[in-house]
Amino acid sequence: MEAELKELLNDLESLKRSPPDLLNSSIDKLKMRVEHLSNLAKSSPARRSKVKDMSAEVIDSNPYSRLMALQRMGIVHNYERIREFSVAIVGIGGVGSVAAEMLTRCGVGRLLLYDYDTVELANMNRLFFRPEQVGMTKTDAAVQTLSDINPDVVLESYTLNITTVQGFETFMSSLKNKKFRPEKEGSGVDLVLSCVDNYEARMAVNQACNELNQTWMESGVSEDAVSGHIQLLIPGETACFACVPPLVVASGIDERTLKREGVCAASLPTTMGVVAGLLVQNTLKYLLQFGQVSRYLGYNALKDYFPTMEMKPNPQCSNAACVDRQKEYIIARPAREAAAKAEMVAEALLFTGGPLHADNEWSISVVDDGEPDGLDFPSSVGLPEGVVHELPSADVFRPPPAPEAVCLADDLEDLRRQLDALNAPQG
Ligand SMILES: [Zn+2]
Repeated sequence: MEAELKELLNDLESLKRSPPDLLNSSIDKLKMRVEHLSNLAKSSPARRSKVKDMSAEVIDSNPYSRLMALQRMGIVHNYERIREFSVAIVGIGGVGSVAAEMLTRCGVGRLLLYDYDTVELANMNRLFFRPEQVGMTKTDAAVQTLSDINPDVVLESYTLNITTVQGFETFMSSLKNKKFRPEKEGSGVDLVLSCVDNYEARMAVNQACNELNQTWMESGVSEDAVSGHIQLLIPGETACFACVPPLVVASGIDERTLKREGVCAASLPTTMGVVAGLLVQNTLKYLLQFGQVSRYLGYNALKDYFPTMEMKPNPQCSNAACVDRQKEYIIARPAREAAAKAEMVAEALLFTGGPLHADNEWSISVVDDGEPDGLDFPSSVGLPEGVVHELPSADVFRPPPAPEAVCLADDLEDLRRQLDALNAPQG
């Protein structure tokens, strides 16, 4: 389109030189070409070009200026690190698609998207997917939208079911792939987000993450659409999904029997948006190391209640990989504690290195709270010659004058006389 516009400009220049009898037909031809170009512009959405480095420059054309401002505000130490991170999202539905869009807009390095389903009109009560995408796989439709929003994000689309043998194998090998950041320790991704709607898929994510020693976050929205939760799972350190399956603990029912065939679950874009927001907020805090990362955060929409809690792993967990990770975590405890202590010492050294505040608007200073040198006040130290303090300083206690000897009997007699005089009839 750029080449066609250039050609059009050249033709406009030559129009000036064309003989008057040909002018009208030339203008008609040019009009047709302008119409053709404007139709082209309508059909292909404008895509911004890739950005090499995240800039903090405050200009309207910088897609990252508001995010980089988090550094200036002292919230995030190094925002640009987000480009190093890979996040896998399993389930691109009401929560997963919105989480993917948020991470894309935040400029995450790489997103791996997993889903086997296609976009349906019945999904339009939720955010993200559009009616013209009906029939496309959710992963392909997501890549189409996300690559337009931010072409800097590396997007990988996996149209598969992770609960099948083949799907699980592909899922595992894609998580292990370290091509994006070869020097990274552990697996090839920094975090896995589970945004699936069933028990089997959660158990598959749990299995993969326990095997790979991969930290992940689980999310869920209730069937009645008015509550949800997010949960951080660190293999060996926190409870895994098999240690305490939430519903089994609460009601003693096997969750597998709860998904009723043919029953249409309710869903609200609001609840799903809130849960996706909580999930990605926790993800950003975890990746960029700011604030407090929630271990479990619930959301009850009817009462606007947000319960939090922590869950320790179950030593009798049915998942063998979970038990292995728990043993490793216990063995590594002395090294972990030593590292934490060293970090605390380093922080303390940093703290004593200088004053906490550079400016001291109210001239507040810490004074020696030892015994005062003596009681020879008022002091005139620091005052011009001949000037003394009228009042003692607050830190100095002036002993009261010694009471004079008084005669109690005389005083009482005097008081009685005064009272009698007051009570005497007037006039
Ligand atoms: Zn477990």
